[in-house]
Amino acid sequence: MTTGLSASADVVVVGAGIVGLAVAREILRRHRDLTMIVVEAESDVARHQTGHNSGVIHSGVYYSPGSLKARLCVEGSSLMYDYCDEHAIAYERCGKLIVALDDDEMAGLDELERRGRANLVPGLRRLRADEIADVEPGCRGVAALHSPNTGIVDYHRVASTMARELRDQGVTFHFDTRVRSLERSGGITTLHTDTGALRASYVVSCAGLWSDRLAVGAGADPDPRIVPFRGAYLTLNKTSHPVVRGLVYPVPDPALPFLGVHVTRLINGDVVLGPSALLVFARDGYRVSTLRWRDVVDTVTWPGTWRLARHFWRAGAREIMMATSRRRFLDDVARYVPAAREVGVREGFSAGVRAQALAADGTLVDDFVLSETAGALHVRNAPSPAATSSLALAREVVTRIEASSDWRS
Ligand SMILES: Cc1cc2nc3c(=O)[nH]c(=O)nc-3n(C[C@H](O)[C@H](O)[C@H](O)COP(=O)(O)OP(=O)(O)OC[C@H]3O[C@@H](n4cnc5c(N)ncnc54)[C@H](O)[C@@H]3O)c2cc1C
Repeated sequence: MTTGLSASADVVVVGAGIVGLAVAREILRRHRDLTMIVVEAESDVARHQTGHNSGVIHSGVYYSPGSLKARLCVEGSSLMYDYCDEHAIAYERCGKLIVALDDDEMAGLDELERRGRANLVPGLRRLRADEIADVEPGCRGVAALHSPNTGIVDYHRVASTMARELRDQGVTFHFDTRVRSLERSGGITTLHTDTGALRASYVVSCAGLWSDRLAVGAGADPDPRIVPFRGAYLTLNKTSHPVVRGLVYPVPDPALPFLGVHVTRLINGDVVLGPSALLVFARDGYRVSTLRWRDVVDTVTWPGTWRLARHFWRAGAREIMMATSRRRFLDDVARYVPAAREVGVREGFSAGVRAQALAADGTLVDDFVLSETAGALHVRNAPSPAATSSLALAREVVTRIEASSDWRS
């Protein structure tokens, strides 16, 4: 409920995840004279996807050539490495293998190689079975793709650094402030929040798991809807030598926009297995048991959910087992990194929740989606690799905003 005007600015960015922060930064890089507020429902930056992910700087192998994801991931990874260099943020270009386990997976690996080459992924190399051990001694498979430009970083640290830069340039942060709706009148947008109203000439909404609600409330197409997919991780026990030198991924199911449970070395030295991909009943469903009625209603009343369930009920059943059984998780990974089973895992799962857009026809929307309403641009679908792509996605967003008739009108 709005209780009165609390502040106004030329631009208000909703959401202090990595996408909102990168967009705010890009706007100021191009328009230093503008005043800006970043408004965030939580008490600090990076509390949702940005702070709960695998920390991988993707190189751009997977994505359909010509898609926004393909272009912005390749550009974004290079910008992310530069950003980390400029701000002394630790990263490691540790490289990644995508491993085919048997002949049935070779067609999938061929397709990934074709995409990677079309996307101009730097250094991409095909490995025969006997070459895999040169890159990853603990890994086995019948063939692999090696992407030496893939790396690891702590995106929470990247986001905190961006926030500090923004504060230094005079940007005001309003934390613990959830925007409930947007109202446009006379060239000004009023953002109704729990604690008061904000006014802006232009609004950019980068609201992640809640992005569809603000967009639809402001008059955008209700299609697609965000459905939350929980990704659980297990952490391997510490060993004197890590079981992997870099990152090891399976060949993913081409029908799904998820990369399969993989072995990821984090920048803090831990090695994690995951993430799984389970449809949950809360947009902040970090625990499987969390249930929010509004989120349940949004998911079950969406026709796309039922179409998705009809197609993928087998994958769904497998994910439910993974969510409840550490042994299933380990068995899955041990197919390509056998030592994972011997090393064993620490107690408990950690988790992130993906904001995945689902179309009314049951398609999981693969590409990034941006849409506009009067005086606002909404980032409607920014799942992985949007952390990698954030700086390039921000350039794309700001270029589109500048082309809008509502921008500085
Ligand atoms: C399990 C998992 C693994 C992943 N692994 C990788 C990876 O290895 N590499 C990679 O590149 N990407 C990865 N991703 C994807 C990446 O984390 C996201 O694409 C990226 O963080 C999206 O950033 P964002 O700013 O759009 O969203 P978020 O980080 O979710 O931020 C959105 C913010 O908006 C705020 N907000 C929402 N609604 C409102 C409102 N109404 N009012 C005010 N504030 C609001 C939220 O509180 C939140 O802070 C992964 C994601 C997950 C979940």
